[in-house]
Amino acid sequence: MSEFIPFALPDIGEEEIQAVVETLRSGWLTTGPRTKEFEREFAAFLGGHTHALAVNSATAGLHLAVEAIGIGPGDEVITTAHTFTATAEVIRYMGADPVFVDIDPQTFCMDPGGLEAAITPRTKAIIPVHYGGMCCDMDAINDIARRRNLKVIEDAAHALPTTWNDQLVGTLDTDATVFSFYATKTLATGEGGMVVTRNAEIAKRVAVMRLHGISKDAFDRFTSRKPAWQYEVVAPGFKYNLTDVASALGIEQLKKVRRFHARRRTLAERYDEALRDLPMILPPRPADPGAHAWHLYVIQLLDSAGISRDEFIDEMAAAGVGTSVHYTPLHLHPYWRDTYGLRPEQFPHATRAFNRIVSLPLYTRMTDADQDRVISVIRSILGRSHRAFEVPAENAAAGV
Ligand SMILES: *Cc1c(COP(=O)(O)O)cnc(C)c1O
Repeated sequence: MSEFIPFALPDIGEEEIQAVVETLRSGWLTTGPRTKEFEREFAAFLGGHTHALAVNSATAGLHLAVEAIGIGPGDEVITTAHTFTATAEVIRYMGADPVFVDIDPQTFCMDPGGLEAAITPRTKAIIPVHYGGMCCDMDAINDIARRRNLKVIEDAAHALPTTWNDQLVGTLDTDATVFSFYATKTLATGEGGMVVTRNAEIAKRVAVMRLHGISKDAFDRFTSRKPAWQYEVVAPGFKYNLTDVASALGIEQLKKVRRFHARRRTLAERYDEALRDLPMILPPRPADPGAHAWHLYVIQLLDSAGISRDEFIDEMAAAGVGTSVHYTPLHLHPYWRDTYGLRPEQFPHATRAFNRIVSLPLYTRMTDADQDRVISVIRSILGRSHRAFEVPAENAAAGV
């Protein structure tokens, strides 16, 4: 049998390997000059005029962001049910309560109508998730936030590079934006993340809290003129700093983000072209085709496919193709369901989506031949199973 095609694969070149080796030889492993450089370059990628604070995961970054805006016990933070548990767990870290709203059935992003309806006197903030790499309706969300005096922290784990009205996510008018550099994300350092904010107060708090609540970080301490042993603890902070080894990877990955994005976009367009006549709904496309980061390519199997989502995934695996599901929505996980008494009927769109979605392999090292094999496996599975069906209007209308 030909080689297994994984769902995702990081794209690490000689440049990254060289940079890591140099860092290992440099004598500085933890947060230091490479991390400073990574932060500078990341801010520059976003056009400057912003603070970029490297952390050891997006989960850590989201935690620091909700801490920095002052979320605490009794507060409510609104997010979407259709996300990874990290988005909501950080709200619980602060002793606050997440309030889950349903998704827009087309984009799988937070439904602004549901958001407005979920606001109570306890609501303090909103965490939209740019699902799959497509931006939420940030005009609507920011408008609600301004009218109701709420903070906005974007979970941008999928959104490098994503744009909204030609502006990169990370430069929109929100309080903070958090990116993930987890192994499967569009920029991968294994583990890592970045908190981006134009608010100097938030930046200062995140910088202090990511390293034990110490008022100066180790690099500053060991390179400034003051004696290295002099520092002050101003809060019971966390241990969320990014290592220079990871940052060395990040610096090289960041140089390739545009090229990676172009490849992801080509792969997405090839899927669109090859799958549009099958009994499935293709992922939505923004009006500007370059606006989508294409972290994920998520199809929805129609009933007429004649095969369940789980059977489809099993058959793909048997034919040597890895897939995934993003996500089992949070209201179906025991902790969230039982803690907040959540029922599937409260989230009809997320529940319905969950039963039909499959994330297809999409990664920059995927060759056209790899993708052709994925496509032919899909066609052969659905060719055997499907009943008469009509091509979904949205697929036919796809301008590809
Ligand atoms: C990956 C991911 C996270 C967490 O990122 P880590 O860097 O692994 O902590 C948070 N939210 C979403 C939507 C994600 O996909």
